[in-house]
Amino acid sequence: MMRTKSRMKIPFSPPDITLADRLAVMKVLESGWITTGAVAKQFEQELARYVGVERVAVLNSATAALEIALRLLNIGEGDEVITTPYTYAASANVILHVGATPVFVDIASDGFNIDPHAVERAITARTKAIICVDIAGYPCDYHELKRAINEKKGLFVEKTGQAWLNDLGRVVLIADAAHSLGASYHGQCSGALADFTAFSFHAVKNLTTGEGGALCFNAIANTPSQAIYEQVMLWSLHGQNRDALSKTRLGQWRYDIMFAGYKCNMTDMAAALGLSQLQRYEESLAKRKALYELYQQALQPLAGQVQLPMWDDLHYRSAYHLALVSFSEYTEERRDELIEQLASKGVATNVHFQPLPMLTAYSDRGYSMTDYPKAYTRYSQVISLPLHTGLSPEQVEFVVEQLVACVK
Ligand SMILES: *Cc1c(COP(=O)(O)O)cnc(C)c1O
Repeated sequence: MMRTKSRMKIPFSPPDITLADRLAVMKVLESGWITTGAVAKQFEQELARYVGVERVAVLNSATAALEIALRLLNIGEGDEVITTPYTYAASANVILHVGATPVFVDIASDGFNIDPHAVERAITARTKAIICVDIAGYPCDYHELKRAINEKKGLFVEKTGQAWLNDLGRVVLIADAAHSLGASYHGQCSGALADFTAFSFHAVKNLTTGEGGALCFNAIANTPSQAIYEQVMLWSLHGQNRDALSKTRLGQWRYDIMFAGYKCNMTDMAAALGLSQLQRYEESLAKRKALYELYQQALQPLAGQVQLPMWDDLHYRSAYHLALVSFSEYTEERRDELIEQLASKGVATNVHFQPLPMLTAYSDRGYSMTDYPKAYTRYSQVISLPLHTGLSPEQVEFVVEQLVACVK
């Protein structure tokens, strides 16, 4: 019997796993080599080709990728890193992990991303990096961010132990591109827009390896990308100078530990899933875009009350990771009510994101939401609608019908 519309249950973002994905993972399981090896290296090369960057290092999360970028640059105590309050905790937690100080600046009034002019004002002699976030898959204004960095180049102070940063002679730009694989800005892909870019392949992201991430980079000043890659590999495996695969070669048992690195390498099992997903990624993006456009059409009856920005134009291409709908007149309380009403009708929604100063770890450190009024307004008026490749046009219509009923 066909399920009636009123009994539909719409999940928020289940993973999209095909038969080809399962077979790819099976092949690794049966191969006799399941941790980091040839498949992870192939995934790195194909990602690098896809985004147009010299090197990619795959890791077990975007968090690890961001933290390793900060470690490579030797950013730590006494340094400031500018980021947005409107993001997931990972973007700022890594700044705390390395002992540096997160400096939040508000978002721009026309969207969800960090305001480059506010960034420019926040750069001081202590600033070493900016971590910008392509919220929902929509790229930040990279030209403006780079202009802000160059504008403030005169403030940059060299610090001993920060060789790469000193070579650059400016603040480094790190992109948290957890949402934006496949997005582009002025014809350049996310992954090639900043000095370092971190992707996430967590289970809810556009492309998944269960848990996973990647760090993308070109050469930095005088340091070739291959040398950077070798350092990333050391950081990802306890600072060990011979990885598991090379140790299996006859007679190659001895290794050294160069420093106390982390343990955050990607397994071949995960990489096989990622590689398989990458083969059809452009198709997934097209599906996401079509569903997003359908939401926009279906939301016409609420025009004036809701905003779902169109995220593709001459210079911007979104990765359509999230469908962020804003209700211009809503308060936080009314928004929370709406989420409950929708849940009771079988529609799972979400809020991306609770700005970081609202969360205990950050309010305890003295950050206050009153300093970021634009981020607060966005947060209190937004919900994320279900958006994933398994969603049908009928389900989109169902979601919008429920939404219209709740709002009216
Ligand atoms: C998911 C996410 C991360 C963290 O990704 P992991 O791979 O889970 O470490 C970082 N930043 C943003 C904006 C995210 O949404």
